[in-house]
Amino acid sequence: MRNLGFLMLFWCFSAAAFAQPEAFHQAIKLMGSGFEITAIHENPVLARKAIDAGIGEIRRIERLISSWDESSQTSAINRNAGIQPVEVDDELYQLIRRSLKVSGITDGAFDISFAAIEKLYQFNGSETTLPPSEEVARSVAKINYRNIVLNPDKHTVFLKEPGMRIGFGAIGKGYAANRARAVMQDMGISNGLVNASGDLICWGKQEDGRDWGIAIADPDDKMKAIAWLPIGEGAVVTSGDYEKFLMSDGKRYAHIIDPRTGYPTTGIKSVTIVCPDAELADALATSVFVLGREKGLALINQLKGIECLIITEENKLLSSKNLQLQYE
Ligand code: ADP
Ligand code: MG
Repeated sequence: MRNLGFLMLFWCFSAAAFAQPEAFHQAIKLMGSGFEITAIHENPVLARKAIDAGIGEIRRIERLISSWDESSQTSAINRNAGIQPVEVDDELYQLIRRSLKVSGITDGAFDISFAAIEKLYQFNGSETTLPPSEEVARSVAKINYRNIVLNPDKHTVFLKEPGMRIGFGAIGKGYAANRARAVMQDMGISNGLVNASGDLICWGKQEDGRDWGIAIADPDDKMKAIAWLPIGEGAVVTSGDYEKFLMSDGKRYAHIIDPRTGYPTTGIKSVTIVCPDAELADALATSVFVLGREKGLALINQLKGIECLIITEENKLLSSKNLQLQYE
């Protein structure tokens, strides 16, 4: 019996030694968008468990930051605009604090209080006109990140003006992707990928041991790649006007609002940001849309370790100084 035990133990060890890492994928709708999660591991049970944990984490974050869910802390902040400060969890408090930091470095191009104007637009392709200018003026007056008041001692958030609102549409998916990766890594997944419908973070290597590389989609044909980005590890986040946009007078507007004017942006089809952090990449991709080509590239060129690719409405590719694109 003892010998048999030894043999079985040996068999287990040798089976483990020969097991090859395999990629396990899950596509799922979360935060109103399509997510794809990949875990690469020799143990399928662990890989599946880690994917489920990643999904659980994204759902948890959605409950915290959703401005549509009346019971979320974000909705409580919005309901109390101009009335009183609202005490929130540290996680939400810190996300708002980081959002305000991005507003600072982008000179207000990124502003979570853009949400005061959200209801004036649908961006589902059906609109044919811009909203009336008086309505835009009324709502844009409520957008100002400086009126989002944080109290670090009480952990409260206060929107100073009645009618103000905040929304995390331009940063939440990036944050969720970061967090899903963290949860999966903690469970022992050292190679994987989370794609939050274009906000992507990858770590470790691919199933076959090669570095991760990302295809940049042709804005006119999402199934076609126009270039490749060898990234190794980190985030590649693309904001595009392919799905959500508005056409008026033959002009195409993206679903990103310029907080200074209250009108959606024009001139850029897509912005891709490469950076170690998916949340920052997400926020910066949105910011570059608002800042436009020159100011956007100038900002990215100042930031160490962050690169950018812009596809203009004339299909011109503009990239930051150190972006390494491959066309083969
Ligand atoms: P995508 O939807 O392609 O991931 P973004 O990350 O740029 O694109 O997010 C767009 C969303 O960001 C909009 O749907 C809206 O919810 C929000 N948003 C729009 N304009 C701004 C802005 N100036 N600052 C912050 N958030 C914005
Ligand atoms: Mg974004």
